[in-house]
Amino acid sequence: MKQRLLFLGPPGAGKGTQAERLAASCGLLHLSTGDLLRAEVAAGTDLGREAEAVMARGELVSDGLVLAIVRSRLEGHSGGWLLDGFPRNLVQAEALNTLLEDLDQQIELVVLMELDDDLLIQRLLGRGRADDNEAVIRHRLEVYRQQTEPLISYYRQRQLLEAIEASGSVEAIAERILVLVG
Ligand code: ADP
Repeated sequence: MKQRLLFLGPPGAGKGTQAERLAASCGLLHLSTGDLLRAEVAAGTDLGREAEAVMARGELVSDGLVLAIVRSRLEGHSGGWLLDGFPRNLVQAEALNTLLEDLDQQIELVVLMELDDDLLIQRLLGRGRADDNEAVIRHRLEVYRQQTEPLISYYRQRQLLEAIEASGSVEAIAERILVLVG
């Protein structure tokens, strides 16, 4: 079974839901940069204050900030992990490579969750998070297309990428992912 995984896909594809399930059932450390950032915002830390306005606009928080969060969690963790929402651009992907070289670890699988834009928007509107209003959602999708989508060919070239269709029930999607994880 693969132990070092990335979940890639547009906002609303269900990465968080699937990542949480898979991590729990396989005993992996689940790192969601979105959840970690929201926790910083809720706790009112300096970092949270810096991130809050950026997140509300649907832009990406600075690479340095997100990297520091990921680095601090992966260092000193020897087991498997599942990164959800990170990396989100090529700079972050390269920084992750460097970090993993330092830790003598490797990504084993990148799962791309694919879903039509109409369904994505429908799901996000139903969720009602602070950054889930229609204008911000459309902007997050644009940011995804411009900054995150290039990671698809990046990981495909490295022969790490497998795509699944992220429609249907939570159970059905979980099954598709399990097949890839092995
Ligand atoms: P979604 O995938 O639904 O957009 P996330 O919880 O993954 O939700 O992310 C919410 C917000 O947190 C993003 O719009 C962005 O502002 C910030 N964020 C999360 N992960 C990253 C990251 N790796 N780099 C920069 N910003 C991030």
